[in-house]
Amino acid sequence: PAPVGPLGRHATRAVAVTWGDRVVTIGGSSPVVVQSMTNTDTALAIDTAIQVKDLALAGSELVRITVNTPEAAKEVPAIREQLDRMGVPVPLVGDFHYNGHKLLTQFPECAQALSKYRINPGNMGGGKKRDDNFAQMIEVAARYDKPVRIGVNWGSLDHELMARMMDENSRRAQPWPAQAVMREALVVSAITNARRAEALGLGGDRIVLSCKVSHVQDLIAVYRDLSSRCDYPLHLGLTEAGMGSKGIVASTAALGVLLQEGIGDTIRISLTPEPGGDRTREVVVGQEILQTMGLRAFTPMVVACPGCGRTSSTFFQELADDIQSFLRRQMPIWREQYPGVESMNVAVMGCVVNGPGESRHADIGISLPGTGEIPSAPVFVDGERTVTLKGDHIAQEFQAIVENYVAR
Ligand code: SF4
Repeated sequence: PAPVGPLGRHATRAVAVTWGDRVVTIGGSSPVVVQSMTNTDTALAIDTAIQVKDLALAGSELVRITVNTPEAAKEVPAIREQLDRMGVPVPLVGDFHYNGHKLLTQFPECAQALSKYRINPGNMGGGKKRDDNFAQMIEVAARYDKPVRIGVNWGSLDHELMARMMDENSRRAQPWPAQAVMREALVVSAITNARRAEALGLGGDRIVLSCKVSHVQDLIAVYRDLSSRCDYPLHLGLTEAGMGSKGIVASTAALGVLLQEGIGDTIRISLTPEPGGDRTREVVVGQEILQTMGLRAFTPMVVACPGCGRTSSTFFQELADDIQSFLRRQMPIWREQYPGVESMNVAVMGCVVNGPGESRHADIGISLPGTGEIPSAPVFVDGERTVTLKGDHIAQEFQAIVENYVAR
């Protein structure tokens, strides 16, 4: 089993990612960091700055943007400037593939405006060219004192390393299954490149690692192995997790197991958005995974019963949804004004069977009467029944009670 750190986590080095006064620490004794990534064209600076702002306001503590062309690299300082002007100090991470060495050296303002670089050693060419390209990126990181994530990916694994390991495997008396060789190649690639980065002059406290795959059991096996073989902080994520409930369930299943074992220092939930869907959903899912596991608190939790034949009207579902949305909307303001508010529990219950009991256990609860009764709902504050709401404005009145409670 992996050694356990001060918060019940695998012991890792602390890597500080900074912009101005904002410091986000990955690893060490810091809480698990939630991050996300934009899907705008980075060359469109305004669109990208707006999406970064939305993700940051939703709670993303780092936001990654793709930097794939000279046009994109040129706009990174403008994106940073827009964010600073809007009062959004979230550190930006540049995601580089293929040409990162060129972009970081040709656009020093871009290199400086970013707070961290993501490097994929699997798509930097082969042989000496790959080594030179990797060295160039590490030299820029060392020059500007920027941390990097060495992000190895199942879909773009170093071909030479893979071929060499397959060859070695074929000479074993009992060859490993191909899947096991691939898992080993991912871990070896990540650790070997991290050691090379250190040998090139980057501090050991400037390196984060990831080994992303798209299947749950592979991800769990790879990260268990990786965490037992190094103390670099680890970025967790199930790559290409998929759409809708499939993506959420697969990510939760994989990350839940690893986080429970103390593995993982930052997470990103890679959800394919529905057409026109909200990009901030991946941030909300990441936060909910950590909060439901009791690792962090971000937003007051709403305990809502599933409803049943006793709640045949839609009023109950609408009320639960209204309250959850209201709490999330308030959080950017409340987080600043009322530290600790995120630990609050709110119950929204459908009928008298479990409603009063569950509502008494929450900080604030409301319990509807169930089917066929006059819509009236007792409210419980700190375990005491305080008032009964009636009529068409129960949701608004309950929101006002919650708001007063928070302020008090
Ligand atoms: Fe059904 Fe009432 Fe239980 Fe909700 S609390 S699931 S409405 S019995």
